[in-house]
Amino acid sequence: MCEIRVIAVLGAGTMGHGIAHAAAASGFETRLYDPSEPALAKARGQIETILKKAVDLGKAAPADADAALARLTTTTKVAGAVSDADLVIEAAPERIDLKLQLMAEIERHAPVSAVIATNTSALSITEMAGAIATPGRVAGMHFFNPVHKMRLVEIVRALESAEATLAAIEAVARRLGKETVLVRESPGFITTRVNASIGNEAFYMLMEGVASARDIDKALTLGLNHPMGPFELVDLVGLDTRLSILEYLHRSLGEKYRPCPLLAQYVRAGRLGRKVGRGVYEY
Ligand code: NAD
Repeated sequence: MCEIRVIAVLGAGTMGHGIAHAAAASGFETRLYDPSEPALAKARGQIETILKKAVDLGKAAPADADAALARLTTTTKVAGAVSDADLVIEAAPERIDLKLQLMAEIERHAPVSAVIATNTSALSITEMAGAIATPGRVAGMHFFNPVHKMRLVEIVRALESAEATLAAIEAVARRLGKETVLVRESPGFITTRVNASIGNEAFYMLMEGVASARDIDKALTLGLNHPMGPFELVDLVGLDTRLSILEYLHRSLGEKYRPCPLLAQYVRAGRLGRKVGRGVYEY
């Protein structure tokens, strides 16, 4: 597999802009694609803000920030992003129809030597890889939000991911300054599965009256050294998002992931978290 020099990021949303920033700031020629022009403009602004903050904090020289921006190009055409890419990282919305369509477009327009990574949180990477003639060059590259602050990348081995693909993705993740773990494709990988279990257990404890939400959060932060309590975290993630993750884990992994009825009730009440001003807590 060739040396990775050019990275194409498909999707310029929450994750895509963060991945594009990391790539450009780490010396890769970076092509950012999104079908929406406003999304691209917003992403560029967000990347400029992250770079400026790094300069203000003395973590980057102004010339390095300028060089990173100069390495970034944006486009509303898939072909414009992937035609000279060595690595394509897909960060489009979490819908299998969209992802399968993108895989076909990548196959059509990218060099056949390009490695293809998907940032999916839960969809089947094996199914995505199966959509192209060379599934060995596809694997998962699961970043965390916000990308510039979170140090982990879960590398996900699909059924037919080649060793060279996994090695290339690992090498890029390291150049982006990330630590990696290798996971065989399975629902929720490591982090989503553990996190959903902790969050669900916390809701069961709240429902059973074991302790107040504040005290459960306090116990996990001060007693177990979690950076954030499970309720603070679910308010950030969104209770509806968490519920759909648990429903998926319950369907695919079984009974122990059954979503707590209290979580479902909060969602029915419209208490979806910070994004609507109230979740477990009021904001
Ligand atoms: P988002 O909604 O913030 O951004 C998605 C972007 O994709 C938007 O800018 C949208 O215009 C664009 N888009 C729409 N159709 C597209 C297409 N056909 N091709 C390319 N781009 C298209 O979503 P996000 O939160 O950045 O999530 C992207 C992926 O990353 C999903 O698979 C998600 O599961 C995964 N993920 C999200 C998080 C998170 O915390 N948000 C964390 C890890 C992984």
